[in-house]
Amino acid sequence: MRKNIVAGNWKMNLDYEKGVSLFSEIVNMVKDEVVGNQEVIVCTPAIHLSSVGKLAGSVKNVAVGAQNIHQAESGAYTGEISATQVKSTGAAYVILGHSERRAYFGETDELLAQKVEAALKHGLSPIFCIGETKEERESGRFFDVIKSQLEKGVFHLSGEDFTNIVLAYEPVWAIGTGLTATPEQAQEVHAFIRDTIAGKYGEQIAADTTILYGGSANPGNAKELFSQPDIDGGLIGGASLKSRDFVDIVKVFN
Ligand code: PEP
Repeated sequence: MRKNIVAGNWKMNLDYEKGVSLFSEIVNMVKDEVVGNQEVIVCTPAIHLSSVGKLAGSVKNVAVGAQNIHQAESGAYTGEISATQVKSTGAAYVILGHSERRAYFGETDELLAQKVEAALKHGLSPIFCIGETKEERESGRFFDVIKSQLEKGVFHLSGEDFTNIVLAYEPVWAIGTGLTATPEQAQEVHAFIRDTIAGKYGEQIAADTTILYGGSANPGNAKELFSQPDIDGGLIGGASLKSRDFVDIVKVFN
């Protein structure tokens, strides 16, 4: 049975003290709220990882992730961070393919495929983001865009490796904009993603893959979104910076 996941993406927010304090608050609030096969993940800036990784280690079903890694194992890549370094902090996940990395840092599907490999090789599970721009939605090309992102970014993996991937459907036009995909729009794409996975890896792997929705999710809309049959939780940006909002989203599964 696939996991339900609520994952926070803090992006480039919070100094060291504020981040550790927000994470402690979240852990205290969610420790008795994470039910059954649910997992709560917080993806922090690199500076927080080792401190929050230690705190997460003591709480069942709470994990920590990074927001990026370099594709190489080590070396002369000033300013970068590797999968082994992230893993050594206690983190279990890494967001890859976020639209901000694709748009502002020129990350291509081909580069992302290498980052996915590096993450898996060193025991990190990628939260792999896919999604169309506003223009791609309006022109009706969004299914093609999403299929191509899957094919180039993760479909080179063996079925066994693919089972360690979490997918996040994040329509770019909904990220940080206050515009949310309607539950029907999101469900339509999630069902398409699951079908596409079934075509590549078979029905069982498709049924077991966790597919998150991301894009201005908040305590007011999460329940309706997460109650769609193919939406298994959310990747939460803005609302993950407020402990009450984030925990209210986690509690949607209670
Ligand atoms: C995100 O950045 O992954 C995201 C979903 O952001 P927001 O919730 O702020 O739209």
